[in-house]
Amino acid sequence: MSAHISVTAWPKRPMSTADAGAHRTQARHTLILAVCVWMASVGNLALWQQIRALPEVSGPRGLAFALGFALGIAGLLVALVAALGWGRLLRPLLSLLLVATAVGAYFMLSYGVVIDPTMMVNVVQTDPREVGDLLNLKLALALLGLAGPGLWWVWRRPLQPQPLGRQLGVHLALIVGGLALTSGALMAIFQDFSSVMRNHTQLRYLINPLNSVWALADVAATPFKRDTRRLEPLGQDARLAPRPAGAKPPLLVLVLGETARADNFSLNGYARATTPELAREDIINQRNAWSCGTNTAASVPCLFSALPRDEFERRPYNSETLLDVLQHAGLAVLWIDNQSGCKGVCDRTPHVSTAELKDPALCSGGECFDEIMLRGLDERIAALDPERRARGVVLVLHQMGSHGPAYFKRSPPAFKRFLPECTSNALQECTREQVVNAYDNTIAYTDHVLAQTISWLKSRESAWSPAMIYLSDHGESLGENNLYLHGLPYGVAPDVQKHVPWITWLSNRYARERGISTACLKARQDERVSHDHYFHSVLGLLGVQTSAYRPELDLYRPCGG
Ligand SMILES: [Zn+2]
Repeated sequence: MSAHISVTAWPKRPMSTADAGAHRTQARHTLILAVCVWMASVGNLALWQQIRALPEVSGPRGLAFALGFALGIAGLLVALVAALGWGRLLRPLLSLLLVATAVGAYFMLSYGVVIDPTMMVNVVQTDPREVGDLLNLKLALALLGLAGPGLWWVWRRPLQPQPLGRQLGVHLALIVGGLALTSGALMAIFQDFSSVMRNHTQLRYLINPLNSVWALADVAATPFKRDTRRLEPLGQDARLAPRPAGAKPPLLVLVLGETARADNFSLNGYARATTPELAREDIINQRNAWSCGTNTAASVPCLFSALPRDEFERRPYNSETLLDVLQHAGLAVLWIDNQSGCKGVCDRTPHVSTAELKDPALCSGGECFDEIMLRGLDERIAALDPERRARGVVLVLHQMGSHGPAYFKRSPPAFKRFLPECTSNALQECTREQVVNAYDNTIAYTDHVLAQTISWLKSRESAWSPAMIYLSDHGESLGENNLYLHGLPYGVAPDVQKHVPWITWLSNRYARERGISTACLKARQDERVSHDHYFHSVLGLLGVQTSAYRPELDLYRPCGG
């Protein structure tokens, strides 16, 4: 209290009000210009790095190209901020853009990821556990270095009070000036600009922070592009083909893998023994299988939809999923989740999460190893609708799998076969070998989980006709060309993010009762298949008859079934 009094008692230099205003406030236009130039230049380090590596623009020509590009970005940013940042909104808006710039730059520089609408869907759908996996000291430093100076600049002084008419004039001048700068700058480098943007489409996703603004706008516009309230019924005519005399009801386990890339399975020729347990089982291994998307939010809904990838992307409204059709056919379906949810595909299907289980052997820190999904399966099946259960049961096990960047958290100590492993979520702090070791340990553990699933299914053969299909939602980059993680736009993503494992195990009983030749299926293992085939192959395997089924997309059909 006494300190407060002494401050107010401090003798003041006499000052006119206009004089005081000029010293303690800042003009809107200088603030907008300064922050936009900062974001366009320093905030775009990832973009400049990639442009520097382009052979077609090098030397002085490259420098002029980068300068024109930077001015073009700055002009667009100025126009955008002036159009949106009216009155008191200006400083929060600039702060948000600065933070988006810093976070975007960090992930682009560290992992080679880019910011596009599907990445933004992931950001919107994330959970605290996923965020926790990404937080580290380097991110904090990047935020401090890339957003800190700008934020200090924005908040150090209040804005100069401005009458409305004057503010309108300033903002309009900035919008017009910004757009003129962008068109002028791009015109000057047009020849290089058009060819570079055409040949390197990924560059557009690096333009910071306009990539985040555009991605967010695109996600927000989804309800206008797609009628999200409408849910089209699907396969309501579905019914089960009569079961052959003496046959048991089917018990099909669909294991939905996470971030498993086909290339790191020894089954697919990988030099390390990552899948020794599956190698001992009589399985069918689709060696040439491709995902629908490069991240969970894109792949999972597409995988469970009846539509092929291109039609799915253009869909005007959502439809019921594979799980709905299985239920229409009268089967009992249960989704068991050890991940961040089913992305809407199990909304009308019984589903449970492992999150509430506290098994001390398998769970710690709010996360469980994938074997948790095999605990208490008999009780879970017994709790399903008895009438449906008598016709057959489909269980979906949604794995945590190889979810990164904290790969080391996904394998229990007994499966850490490849050492030393990277134990940081800042992958760039580890050697590439350590990152690959940690990743391969997750595949070794998935191998064990799948073998355990098969062994459990075998032990139920007296009551059921068991089978399993495993496939992954997308692959992963592990440092090839300095790319890490996944989620690059499909058209520019490397194959490792799209080439996925697809493994089928049929019990002898299942193959015999349904007249499926596993030898025939094995002879077709190298045929190219994709997530497009999943919906129809599962229906075909179970003998579900419906107008939604397309036989040409059923990969099991040519071999019986
Ligand atoms: Zn995923």
